[in-house]
Amino acid sequence: MFVDSHCHLDFPELAEIQDEVLANMRHSGVSHVLCVGVTLENFPNILRFAEQHSNVYASVGLHPDHEQESEPTEEMLVELAQHPKVVAIGETGLDYFHMKGELEWQRLRFRTHIRAARKCKKPLIVHCRDAAQDTLRILAEEKASETGGVMHCFTESLEVAQAAMEMGFYISFSGIVTFKSATALKEVARSIPLERMLIETDSPYLAPVPYRGKLNQPAYVKYVAEEIARLRGVSLEEVGRATTENFCRLFLGKSI
Ligand SMILES: [Zn+2]
Ligand SMILES: [Zn+2]
Repeated sequence: MFVDSHCHLDFPELAEIQDEVLANMRHSGVSHVLCVGVTLENFPNILRFAEQHSNVYASVGLHPDHEQESEPTEEMLVELAQHPKVVAIGETGLDYFHMKGELEWQRLRFRTHIRAARKCKKPLIVHCRDAAQDTLRILAEEKASETGGVMHCFTESLEVAQAAMEMGFYISFSGIVTFKSATALKEVARSIPLERMLIETDSPYLAPVPYRGKLNQPAYVKYVAEEIARLRGVSLEEVGRATTENFCRLFLGKSI
């Protein structure tokens, strides 16, 4: 009924209670998850997890918050993405909120990921914090519309969402949309077409209301779906169905 399009099941908080996390998913109607890579070092763990569970997919990339890691080349990413369970390149993007100073390395790394995605024809998972204009500019310059992808954990304006959608990107909402203070984001969730929307937890972080501040997990993605249904005045089933179909179209090229 629901797919969590972005989570980090390999992070210690969730890896330690993996069986419980998977059981909770089943009970909440969360059929599949995409476990998103943030370092190449941990990629083998994610891949092993995806190989062990038919309902877990993986992605490969180096997150913009990891400055110290050695840079992957385009060829390296393409090579790692050949595995049938790897459905996307990322997460990648720009983060001017957590990282300060001269960030040209972030922009170069982002470009490498976009080129790799175009080469292996897989969608991009884009992380963007306080860097919307540069993110959109680089996506355009590197012709990311050839592969499309998702703007994950979206917190930007409707204008940014529209510009991303015009380049073939989906907009993914996390638990942030359930926060009372997120009035502008709620408006975005109300306005954009359901056909371009994904839902995610970004667990173990950002637990939605009513679990705000607690350990997040994929089972809680249904609270994100509930809030979107409420905002749009449609049924929970409709949000579940649409976001699942969108996930399949973007990442799998077939239905689950
Ligand atoms: Zn992210
Ligand atoms: Zn993430």
